[in-house]
Amino acid sequence: MRADHPRMDREAKTIGFMIDIYCRDRHGAHDALCPECAELRDYALARLDKCPFQESKSTCANCTVHCYKPDMRQRVREVMRYSGPRMMWRHPLLALAHLLIDGRRAAPALPSKKANP
Ligand SMILES: [Zn+2]
Repeated sequence: MRADHPRMDREAKTIGFMIDIYCRDRHGAHDALCPECAELRDYALARLDKCPFQESKSTCANCTVHCYKPDMRQRVREVMRYSGPRMMWRHPLLALAHLLIDGRRAAPALPSKKANP
């Protein structure tokens, strides 16, 4: 993750906190994530690092490109569904930035790819 990109840094923090909350509540994790959630976080951060939109990306939920493989996509959706509303209490500034700033941005289309019907 490039720390000089505040947008991507925020995105990485947001998904990191969401997985923390989910793992703590659902899997009873305390100091560290359980192996499954650690794997999911590493995967999410790796996808983010490879995101073709970088600073101009919308939120993952709005994105036109579904870059997660199906089982990871299923898992991250569950995490977001659980932790999304809870982010408002635990990390309100991040949650608001995600919803109000990043989520309002239209998801760009990939310029290099031909449009798929
Ligand atoms: Zn877990």
